[in-house]
Amino acid sequence: MYRDNTRVIRIGDRVIGGGNPILIQSMTNTRTSDVDATADQILRLEEEGCDIIRCTVPDEASAKAISEIKKRIHIPLVADIHFDYRMAIMAIENGADKIRINPGNIGGEEKLLAVVEAAKKKEIPIRVGVNSGSLEKEIVDRYGGVTAEGIVESALDKVHMIEKAGYENIVVSIKSSDVMMSVHAHEALAPKCPYPLHVGITEAGSLVSGNIKSGVGIGIILYEGIGDTIRVSLTGDPVEEVKSARIILRSLGLKKGGIEIVSCPTCGRTDIDLIDLEGRVEKMLSKYRDLNIKVAVMGCAVNGPGEAKEADIGVAGGHGEGLIIRKGEVVRKVPESEIVGELENELKKTFL
Ligand code: SF4
Repeated sequence: MYRDNTRVIRIGDRVIGGGNPILIQSMTNTRTSDVDATADQILRLEEEGCDIIRCTVPDEASAKAISEIKKRIHIPLVADIHFDYRMAIMAIENGADKIRINPGNIGGEEKLLAVVEAAKKKEIPIRVGVNSGSLEKEIVDRYGGVTAEGIVESALDKVHMIEKAGYENIVVSIKSSDVMMSVHAHEALAPKCPYPLHVGITEAGSLVSGNIKSGVGIGIILYEGIGDTIRVSLTGDPVEEVKSARIILRSLGLKKGGIEIVSCPTCGRTDIDLIDLEGRVEKMLSKYRDLNIKVAVMGCAVNGPGEAKEADIGVAGGHGEGLIIRKGEVVRKVPESEIVGELENELKKTFL
């Protein structure tokens, strides 16, 4: 498998590549220079299971904010740099655990060398990558448009630029908003690239479209044994990105642990406001994220207990009441207003 054979790269206190667990990344959408807002958002992301966070560094104030943000958070921080090599160096000096640059637009070989020297000194990795939207015109013309082959060629060019500067502490990412182009590009790149790959579908869109495109694209790529870190890009709260990334990894059996909620799709038998109930159960369960259990939320007392058999605990809604279930057996009936509290009591009694 590709991911078993890549180099092992250290990002802060985490390691990726070489068969290490696949880590979840997200990106803040605050002004990085606003230390309070950025650190608060990162803490919320950590709570949800984010392993690595990326922050944009468009100016000096943002680069300088990194050292203060890092004092307040517990996961590695990646500085995202566009165009200005001085921001890259400043971000590294202020404690960034990894930087993401485009070696092609950092201002020439000399400036790239200066960035590589700074990264070398602190032994932090450089992520280089290609986004289909910013593929070089010459490559686009040569391939007759944006293609998977062109994306791979451009990514390898950038890898070689860093290697030529004498550094091999590299992570690579190639992104396209076209799901299957992204899949084909990863399939073509993985055999040629000894470095860990960061996988994501870019500009994937709103919650629904972004989740589906990412689930399909990242899912296929991971299933093929490619990818060491993932990001689900959504137009919305980055906390949702982390939730979705966890579900993708769990669905593929690539992440163990954590609570899995199964809920029925509702039907004509549904006896309770299941959408509201599921939301309240999910919120209650967020306090117990480290437990490795399956929780069922079902809409009726007729089929609910049977359908929830594979869950560790669950609830089946009835008229103004709910049945608390353990391993498919009804343990007690409770009034509707007490369902979530009683489910939590059952969880504590059984698993804590
Ligand atoms: Fe319908 Fe009950 Fe099945 Fe839910 S559990 S889909 S309400 S039959």
